[in-house]
Amino acid sequence: MNWLVPRFVLAALVAVTGVLFGHWMGHLLPWPFLGEALSAVSAVAALVFLDAVRGHRLLKWLRGSQLDDAPRDSGIWGELGYRIERAVRERDKVIAAERLQLQQFLSAIDASPNGVLMLDAQDHIHWCNRVAADHFSLDPVRDLRQRVTNLLRSPAFVSFLNTESYETPLILNNVRGFSTLSVIVKRYGDGMKLVLSQDITERERSDSMRRDFVANVSHEIRTPLTVLSGFIETMVSLPLTVAERTRVLTLMGQQTDRMQGLVSDLLTLAQLEGSPRPTADRWVGLDALLARISSDALALSNDRHHLKIQVDTQIELAGVESELLSAAANLVNNAVRYTPVGGEIEVSWRQLGDGSGELCVSDTGLGIAREHLPRLTERFYRVDGSRSRETGGTGLGLSIVKHVMHRHGGELQIESEPGRGSKFRLAWPAVRVRHVGEPALGVEAANAPAH
Ligand code: ADP
Repeated sequence: MNWLVPRFVLAALVAVTGVLFGHWMGHLLPWPFLGEALSAVSAVAALVFLDAVRGHRLLKWLRGSQLDDAPRDSGIWGELGYRIERAVRERDKVIAAERLQLQQFLSAIDASPNGVLMLDAQDHIHWCNRVAADHFSLDPVRDLRQRVTNLLRSPAFVSFLNTESYETPLILNNVRGFSTLSVIVKRYGDGMKLVLSQDITERERSDSMRRDFVANVSHEIRTPLTVLSGFIETMVSLPLTVAERTRVLTLMGQQTDRMQGLVSDLLTLAQLEGSPRPTADRWVGLDALLARISSDALALSNDRHHLKIQVDTQIELAGVESELLSAAANLVNNAVRYTPVGGEIEVSWRQLGDGSGELCVSDTGLGIAREHLPRLTERFYRVDGSRSRETGGTGLGLSIVKHVMHRHGGELQIESEPGRGSKFRLAWPAVRVRHVGEPALGVEAANAPAH
């Protein structure tokens, strides 16, 4: 109220000045009191006019954007302007802070690996992040305020959105059909909905691979087990001659070997997957390795093939000896098993100009049709299942070879032609190859992660 008193004082002073001025003027007029009254009224009117001008200036500023300063008048209008301006500035600061917070919040949701779609009570799109836009093929700007069911017409999605309970997520094929989405809906606010989407393609794929793997392993184990239990039943229920008994026991031994082979390959694979990448500071002599492989191959072939194994390479390879042996032995075993009697099998080392090298196992055996080549290293993939099993194959050999090579920064390359034979190459990077007694290339390079 401290502004009111000066205001009254000012009005009174103006009126008194007016009266005095009117009194002085009254000598000049025929009606002296009229002059005093008119002067007092004019003085107050002038004061009101001044107020009106200042009030108008303040109003004009208030109606505008208020970016510039409020009018700096004296007295009540000045104080009013100053206080309003201060309140406006405070409000602007709060709004800016809240806007920044909202912006940061939206950026955080936008960076989420999951899709977030906000719908109003009528299912109009209120906001969506980039991932949701990608999942549902939406345009985050153009499609705002559109009804989502007009854009996503999948009947499964439409009926899911209209159900009352969203307990189980909806599994939806992406609009473009390349991926699988898991969609959940949460209600919030006044009938609003939050649609959350997650790309589960990889998870689905690995789930299905795991299911296939378990099914394959079960199948591989069940078959010899069934055969074994049949033989056991025969031996229990039938009186067998010595010769029959020996034959049955031999067949039982074969089935047990088959199961043992399978379990051992499965263990090898599990070990390869679970152990760290081999460092490049342990050197393994290739010749000793090939000598062991050669004697195994001779025993397996039993003189039915022409074997040519080069055992004087003078090469050392950096890696884990048991893994290198397993990779090379698998290839040589396959060559023996898939090459008919009289065929040729050759194992040789070739050093390339850049210091890298390849161990090549070639045969003149059955060969493999082109369409099978890309799938050969899949677990349990066989071109001819019965031949593989008959010869003691588990369907895991090439998968092990590929794993070993990958861990050592190398690669398995396959060339084959049906009826003419196959060539399997184990390609070694230069940093893991050296001649006996020679220093190797940089160890750091060999330890770099495989691509
Ligand atoms: P398996 O234990 O069945 O031999 P692998 O993973 O070692 O399993 O090989 C996968 C398949 O590739 C085999 O079943 C066979 O059909 C084919 N294969 C592998 N090596 C040869 C080869 N040297 N000649 C012809 N076919 C081969």
